[in-house]
Amino acid sequence: MARPTSASIHTDALRHNLAQARARAPHSRVMAVVKADGYGHGLERVARALEGADAFGVAALSDADRLRAAGLSQPIVLLSGFDEADDLPQLRRLGVETVVHHLSQIEMLEQAADGEPIRCWLKVDTGMHRLGFAPEQVREAYARLSALAGVADGIVLMNHFASSDEFANPQTPAQLRAFADATAGLDGARSLANSAAVLGWPDAHADWIRPGGALYGISVVEGTTGADFGLRPAMTLSTRLIAVNRVRRGERIGYAATWECPEDMNVGVAAIGYGDGYPRAAPSGTPVLVGGQATQVIGRVSMDLMTIDLRGIPDARVGDPVILWGPELPVERIAEVSATIGYELTCSITRRVRFVET
Ligand SMILES: *Cc1c(COP(=O)(O)O)cnc(C)c1O
Repeated sequence: MARPTSASIHTDALRHNLAQARARAPHSRVMAVVKADGYGHGLERVARALEGADAFGVAALSDADRLRAAGLSQPIVLLSGFDEADDLPQLRRLGVETVVHHLSQIEMLEQAADGEPIRCWLKVDTGMHRLGFAPEQVREAYARLSALAGVADGIVLMNHFASSDEFANPQTPAQLRAFADATAGLDGARSLANSAAVLGWPDAHADWIRPGGALYGISVVEGTTGADFGLRPAMTLSTRLIAVNRVRRGERIGYAATWECPEDMNVGVAAIGYGDGYPRAAPSGTPVLVGGQATQVIGRVSMDLMTIDLRGIPDARVGDPVILWGPELPVERIAEVSATIGYELTCSITRRVRFVET
């Protein structure tokens, strides 16, 4: 029998979430961020469902290649930029736009100025200190790019927020001010907002929003789920019980015997583990649904299997469906107890999991 573990991707939820993003930022165009294989949901599948987006954002040129091979003709933006001169012919061939965040990239563009003009998104570091030009370097970078025949007219100006998921954190207004100062008087569309800024910082919507997680129905705002913002989860991760065992009071479950049965009880074994991408860090007590009923993980999650408390579900049987996350059980709850965010969980689903579209 095939392993019963599957990730169902809800394409209607993807479309719903795109519409929600548009409704929140009605004057902005939408770059749908589909990096990391569409946050683990499947790049081509996600891009087809989101073909109404105005552009796609990827982190790897190979992903842009896949989108073009799938027949998608929307603008594609390489969010981390190109990193070697050999990438430029491919950017031109695929018609891909690129973030420019470093002087080394401007030098490569100056060396390879011939050919189809490439649209550039000039990234300003307004305080996150990951990628981008320091505010005082922005004007020179802009002037050098503008002077190149190999750079398309209409440079887009962008930044990235460090703390937009905290709706009262003063870092976001400080970044907004730094961006406005650094780019004052420069022509071009502006792009600032990731998902959390789309949801919580309307002043940051500007000309292009860049939601990723929100499109998959996932919130990174602490203590919230996507549903709190009208979003719908786009993935259900599920499997089945492959054993139901009676275990006596005082016996211990699984590797390192971390959980002790407080009474004689039924323990379910489900066909999913960290080899499928379920987090090993999920502790005893992590919520899980068996046949639609809420219960908990007990003992350590192993590579292929997990053990589940079946007290309170006396008729649970081998073959019963087990849901690890989805619309009925927000991935954010699993992430929170596993000391991560929902994005990391959906990104981590492995290749042996069967993907289905619903
Ligand atoms: C990943 C990314 C986004 C999307 O972030 P979300 O929190 O998923 O919305 C936006 N912009 C840039 C530059 C990114 O790298």
